[in-house]
Amino acid sequence: MTPGSTKVAEPEFDALVVGAGFAGMYMLHRLRKLGMTARVFEAGDGVGGTWFWNRYPGARCDTESVEYSYSFSDEIQQKWEWSERYPTQPEILRYANWVAEQLDLKRDILFSTRVNAAHFDEASSQWTVTTSDGSTTRCRFLIMATGCLSTANLPDIPGVETFAGSRFHTGNWPHEPFSFEGQVVGIIGTGSSAIQSIPIVASQAKHLYIFQRTANYSVPAHNGPLEPERLDEIKTNYHDYRHRARHSRRGYFEDTNPVSAHQVSEDERRREFERRWQFGGLGFIASYNDLLSDEAANEHAAEFVRNRIREIVEDPETAEKLVPYSYPIGTKRLCIDSGYYETFNQPNVTLIDARDEPIVEVTERGIRTSETEYNVDSLILATGFDAMTGTLKRIDIRGRNGLELRSYWEDGPVSYLGLGVSGFPNMFTITGPGSPSVLSNMMVSIEQHVEWIADCLEYLQANSIETIEPDAEAEAEWTRHVIEVADGMLFSKGNSWWKGANIEGKPTVFMPYAGGVGRYRSICDDVAANSYSGFDLSKAPASASSTS
Ligand code: NAP
Repeated sequence: MTPGSTKVAEPEFDALVVGAGFAGMYMLHRLRKLGMTARVFEAGDGVGGTWFWNRYPGARCDTESVEYSYSFSDEIQQKWEWSERYPTQPEILRYANWVAEQLDLKRDILFSTRVNAAHFDEASSQWTVTTSDGSTTRCRFLIMATGCLSTANLPDIPGVETFAGSRFHTGNWPHEPFSFEGQVVGIIGTGSSAIQSIPIVASQAKHLYIFQRTANYSVPAHNGPLEPERLDEIKTNYHDYRHRARHSRRGYFEDTNPVSAHQVSEDERRREFERRWQFGGLGFIASYNDLLSDEAANEHAAEFVRNRIREIVEDPETAEKLVPYSYPIGTKRLCIDSGYYETFNQPNVTLIDARDEPIVEVTERGIRTSETEYNVDSLILATGFDAMTGTLKRIDIRGRNGLELRSYWEDGPVSYLGLGVSGFPNMFTITGPGSPSVLSNMMVSIEQHVEWIADCLEYLQANSIETIEPDAEAEAEWTRHVIEVADGMLFSKGNSWWKGANIEGKPTVFMPYAGGVGRYRSICDDVAANSYSGFDLSKAPASASSTS
């Protein structure tokens, strides 16, 4: 159909948003403020995204509650009362639902509706989105708020489907309460999700077998109730704290220490690591500004953690298995725990080093390794996610000329700023690959992307622009830059999900932008200030202009 020759059907919505996690919720709010018609499709039957699905025992945010929360509305940040330093999954979910009520979001969210396909039609410059109920909806703008860790990774262990007991994946936990009381339980994986759940499962189970393939570095959370005085102080100074976070490296109130680990004496370094260990949390990796770029500096921090593990774990053989050696600290996501290493001092807990004793298969009764079979009543797969690209590639997304996103990304994701993909006009990705996203406080990155996209849409409306998409050269340049920044750091030394190394056959490409959220924000702001440089903008032919 040639624009202008036949009447183009109006789109049903100006914008469709995929996902009702924190990104999708805020996006909907901003779209409404622009006066745009919008609908959100959400696969789950409630809001909250990752916090809707990840209900495993001990699930809790590794970022402090006062930082892992919306900052766009002072009313919201002043009204909500966090109860603990690190919020539990149920508290975050209550918060998400409360915000949805405050902003009356749910009336525009279609729950239990999975997006299966989204095809761009060049004649009308509209997207047609097909959902799991078989229906199709047309829109001008397609905004993917699908999250970075939303497709659970079922490990390719032979027989995993045949287990006859109760099987769980941490990323897709049942909504009904479940107790492991009196059970023999096996857990595969020792990443963040496992490290949070193991102490709780061990407190219930008759026996817990933990299958560890790679020992991880974990720092204590030192969680506790949020003191009212601290909450008051933060609320009084929220504006300054949030400003600092937005312009920092990692999106937190406290920025990375600007000093090199080599600039200080051994004593001083130890004191700083000790101070951060005692304080707890992800800030440990920000002790010095070169921990992620200088191997010798990194080794100081790694060795500090190794020694703490040896101090906590009583059995020296178990302690040595738990001590991570195979990669520099922080080149896989640092874990935060509440009593993880202490759990190995319990008589009902056994650590199996799957490097020495590889898992051969899952049987009906349990897990068979090269040495023996461990019979278990329940099996927990804490085996992570097909991160950042997995969810997007599972949707049949087709741009210009039927270009499929999954084939365009066959060798790894290419994206301009993690916000858009060349050949996919009017499609935006919130915290997409190529943006700081998972290397930062997600809330800070989500808000920055939503606000950038909302400003962009306003600009398009004001200037009667029909389509926007990244220029292929700008996209290639940015993708190269993302890899170059990561290559200048130590990230190549860790087999992380950040670079897809956890998924068999996935291209090994470092996906998030490691240049820091403050720097990234100013790059995005400059792009916008320069009339969206690096994007191709096209005006609607006068006769075919429909909604803008
Ligand atoms: P993960 O970090 O990818 O850990 C998966 C674990 O499963 C690893 O120990 C991995 O071993 C193991 N594994 C995978 N396939 C296996 C196989 N076939 N055989 C044996 N072991 C296997 O996943 P996650 O723990 O779910 O965490 C993912 C991310 O989610 C975190 O890094 C974090 O960003 C986020 N998260 C955040 C929070 C929070 O803020 N509260 C909590 C949980 C998770 P290898 O290391 O050898 O691959």
